[in-house]
Amino acid sequence: QCRAVCPTGAITIKQNIEQVWDALSDPEIRVVVQIAPAVRVAVGDKFGIPKGENVLGRLVAALRRIGFDEVYDTNFGADLTVMEESKELLERLEVGDNLPLFTSCCPAWVKFCENRYPQFKDHISTCRSPQEMFGALMKEEARMNDASDSRKVMVVSIMPCTAKKAEITRPEHFNDGEQNVDYVITTTEAARMIQEAGIDLAQLEPEALDMPFGISSGAGAIFGVTGGVTEAVLRRLMNSDRAEDLEAISFTGVRGVDGIKEASVKLGDRDVKIAVVNGLRCASEVLDKIEAGEVHYDFVEVMACKRGCITGGGQPVPIGPRTKKARVQGLYKIDKMAQIKLSSQNPIVATVYDGLLKGKEHKLLHNE
Ligand code: SF4
Repeated sequence: QCRAVCPTGAITIKQNIEQVWDALSDPEIRVVVQIAPAVRVAVGDKFGIPKGENVLGRLVAALRRIGFDEVYDTNFGADLTVMEESKELLERLEVGDNLPLFTSCCPAWVKFCENRYPQFKDHISTCRSPQEMFGALMKEEARMNDASDSRKVMVVSIMPCTAKKAEITRPEHFNDGEQNVDYVITTTEAARMIQEAGIDLAQLEPEALDMPFGISSGAGAIFGVTGGVTEAVLRRLMNSDRAEDLEAISFTGVRGVDGIKEASVKLGDRDVKIAVVNGLRCASEVLDKIEAGEVHYDFVEVMACKRGCITGGGQPVPIGPRTKKARVQGLYKIDKMAQIKLSSQNPIVATVYDGLLKGKEHKLLHNE
């Protein structure tokens, strides 16, 4: 197993390119790949493509050429996360228990909270992250179709993040003793595989994602930027895709670069108080204030990386102010162009709740 070593010796980051190449050359393995929201606006940096440009179609073409059997979108998993997390928030608001609800899709934040603020552990959402929800669904699909395809399914995620490599090995993300995602490769590892195959991403014609898990909403796309999870959940709770309602949500205060943003939205006759936090220093500040009773929130989104996953540790560097801005704009543009704005309007989401997920929602989409 090949490892990249930090020059200071402080961090050793596991790389998984070799294992993925091995799987791609094995005809007995059906290798399925999912692409995280923030990857598509960053991987182009490695191929001289303008900063922040959405290269999803070209990335799909490249991944097919290097041998992945099916190419899907983690944005679909993000749509499932929105469905489950908004349900969980409503349930907790009704009971008044374990509020605020903390988001769970950033593993670096989850670990930080467990280690430094264990008294808040029960506040973390039980929802699995989008890559884990997608992986669990894929493995379940393979179990159901065992008879028609004897190949072993392997799920690979392309993530902006090195912490996601550790997330997939946490036992609470397993089903029936098996990892739901087999390997995580970072954006830069994916770029390296494409380069090793002699492919220039910039020269490829875009191709469409595979069906059925290639359809996703704009709400799923904005998961890659700070405030995006909250905005997506609010859309679901307000349940409207009218342009003026979507704009009103985007102006609640959830967008922008501040380390701590606050918003208040009306749900029925209740004012729901929200905080959006990026960076773990700001997370400490918010948790200390919650503990001291100085602030009260119902929902708190935390992303460990400043501005969210677009600046994750697996993304191409350098990430200067111009690059950050271009990546953020790239994700909001994807949302703007999306015909489906709400996760609940994704027709494949409805199909899986009626089929693959029926009666297994908790087992597949939540931690124990
Ligand atoms: Fe990973 Fe950073 Fe995104 Fe957290 S915010 S999931 S650490 S890239």
